Amino acid sequence: MDMRTVIYPGSFDPLTNGHLDVIKRATKLFDRVIVAVAESSSKKPFFTLAERKRMLAGVVKDIPNVTATSFPGLLVDFAAKKKACAIIRGLRVVSDFEFEFQMALMNRRLKERIETVFMMPRGKYIYLSSSLVKEVARLGGEVSTFVPDSVERALRKKLRAKRR
Ligand code: ADP
Repeated sequence: MDMRTVIYPGSFDPLTNGHLDVIKRATKLFDRVIVAVAESSSKKPFFTLAERKRMLAGVVKDIPNVTATSFPGLLVDFAAKKKACAIIRGLRVVSDFEFEFQMALMNRRLKERIETVFMMPRGKYIYLSSSLVKEVARLGGEVSTFVPDSVERALRKKLRAKRR
């Protein structure tokens, strides 16, 4: 039988419970989920690539059929290399839509056979984003309900290091 592999790409700067919710939903639809940190993102990340990958790997290690990695260059090339049939993206609010729609259609033009699948997280994660989590943590707020424990620890440590 064909293994159905999907790529869930992103910055994961850092991984939040919203991302985790999407990852778990994806495992119900696909045989293998590869969560992949984009190396070539134009965003200026708070965590280094190695840190983001390590955090991700630590969190998904107990979820069967999920692996964490990173990829250089174009997402569709990475997806083709991994023989993935689809890309997962999370949709939260309407404001996500425009950009996600453009990107999905561009990816389709680049590689026709790879589908983009959009998934919605639980309602309570709708307004959750990595940038909001970083902002709250930076200002001394409690983020334990928004990210896994290991990510919360990493955030505290990173903030301490940056303040030094
Ligand atoms: P990117 O920089 O590629 O947008 P992110 O790490 O911010 O990377 O997000 C990766 C994917 O996860 C995107 O599709 C984004 O919409 C989705 N996502 C982010 N936060 C959430 C959330 N709270 N619930 C569901 N999906 C989310």
